[in-house]
Amino acid sequence: MTAASSPCPSLPWGPGWREAAWAGLNRPWDLIIIGGGITGAGILNLAARCGLKVLLLEQNDFASGTSSRSSKLVHGGLRYLKQLHLRLTYECVRERQYLLNSIPGLVEPLDFTYPLYAPGGTRPWLMKLGLSLYTHLSPQAGTYATLEPAEIGRQFSDLARMGMIKGYRFGDAATDDARLVLRVLSDGLRAAKGNALALNYAHVDGFLRMGGKMAGAAVADRDSERKGEAFAPVVINAGGAWADAIRAELGLAARLRPLRGSHLFFQQQRLPIPTALMLEHPRDGRPLFLLPWEGVTLVGTTDVDHPFDADEEPFISGEEQTYLLEALHARFPELHLAQDDLLAVQAGVRPVVRHGKKDPSQESREHILWDEKGLLTVAGGKLTTFRLIALEALRSARALSGRIPRASAALPVVEEADPACLPNGLDPLLARRLCGRYGSAADMLLRDHPDLRDPVPGTATVWAELAWAARHEAVEHLDDLLLRRTRLGLILGEGVNALLPRIKEICAPVLGWNEERWLREVERFQIARRASWGRMGGSSISRGTGSAS
Ligand code: FAD
Repeated sequence: MTAASSPCPSLPWGPGWREAAWAGLNRPWDLIIIGGGITGAGILNLAARCGLKVLLLEQNDFASGTSSRSSKLVHGGLRYLKQLHLRLTYECVRERQYLLNSIPGLVEPLDFTYPLYAPGGTRPWLMKLGLSLYTHLSPQAGTYATLEPAEIGRQFSDLARMGMIKGYRFGDAATDDARLVLRVLSDGLRAAKGNALALNYAHVDGFLRMGGKMAGAAVADRDSERKGEAFAPVVINAGGAWADAIRAELGLAARLRPLRGSHLFFQQQRLPIPTALMLEHPRDGRPLFLLPWEGVTLVGTTDVDHPFDADEEPFISGEEQTYLLEALHARFPELHLAQDDLLAVQAGVRPVVRHGKKDPSQESREHILWDEKGLLTVAGGKLTTFRLIALEALRSARALSGRIPRASAALPVVEEADPACLPNGLDPLLARRLCGRYGSAADMLLRDHPDLRDPVPGTATVWAELAWAARHEAVEHLDDLLLRRTRLGLILGEGVNALLPRIKEICAPVLGWNEERWLREVERFQIARRASWGRMGGSSISRGTGSAS
């Protein structure tokens, strides 16, 4: 296919879509999904491909919950193997391969180096055993390599050599989590050809019941006071860490153990790593990840009980920052990394099912489905395994409604996009990246904005992506655009402020924002960024009421 003949994809969120969505909310649906993270997006995608009329309701922005705050790994779960969670490791490995094949440019291979230190670290023989099993589970990912400290030292010049006894290299994969949600959602909506709707800023605040059975959900936009009702015989709760709060509407007791995981972001020049590292924390041996991601270095994560207030943004605690910096001091002593070096931070809450383990890290990450009073709740699980979770959720939904057909694992989650279809002369890396993020719409994105193909300074994002997101990706607030559609508010830290005038010039007219609205949005964005991602943040902010007005 030549560039000129590439098809014009139908776009899910066109001009005026939000008003039309609210007006048409009360038409009959086969299925309602609560939650626009990766779990909800995966279910919508497969349900739409099965021909169902499906409605997804997200209280804030798509991916604004845990699905934009992960470690960005589409991973084989080596860590879970250590805890003998074999099924999860096997599923992660299989799904990683599936996603690498299906969405190149968005899910990309990433090599990990795992140095071992003595005394106290994992013994090399145990590591070899684990890696043999791990690579055996996923032969396509290749095998692992044993490395001597001198070789590791050549690659990671700042990494401490003292005590290093051996190291290993193995293959894994990484993604942009928030973009993965958008890709899965938008491809699902396109496949639905008008039969599916994904509405952000639509909070489910109650259930509709008829003759003792589930009949739908009551919905409210907490910013605009808009309210509505949506009817369907099946409602799936994909509310992540908020799943218990949703279940509480039916008087159901809590079953989740919310666990916070936090990350630190550094400029790559300050913590340079050529490829990913897995390190054992010198204090307790927990594995930590260091990733080169979108031009910055990401370090994480912690795993601590989170006193969950559904309306408060999670934020990294002082102890978590100290814990992560302690590991960096031990393994990168010459860099003298300090809090002042932080570009940004990130905290997310794992929707883990409570099994009563003392140590949070021992709680299983496997997902579970509950059917209670006609509400199907899906909890736990990984970003990596979203397709399997969606398949299982739809299979369980069949028990609740005869209208739900059998979902097949053979259904694709995304349409293939060929970088060769993009305009000639484009940098092949950029072509791959755009195809991964926007699928077949990448071509239109570039053609609509021929003058915006240059990158935002210091990033791999091109200006056209901002213009495209503003017009076509259900953006309601500036933080949607800068924290999730693009990650500029995160990867540039305070540096994003210098770009605001250009962003305004490109996006405000498309979004129909006048000067007063723009100023309100900038204030809201700064509050949201500081509350969750800013290194000096932590001021309490309520979810869904981030409005500065
Ligand atoms: P969420 O993304 O939280 O989505 C739930 C959504 O429901 C939210 O957007 C919320 O606003 C919405 N909602 C809640 N209540 C309502 C309501 N009443 N009405 C409407 N909407 C509502 N997995 C990996 O595979 N790889 C990793 O590297 C990885 N790293 C992780 C690191 C950390 C620190 C954490 C915390 C998790 C990590 N995970 C990882 C796990 C993965 O991120 C989560 O399993 C996944 O993102 C959960 O997605 P979800 O859709 O279930 O939840």
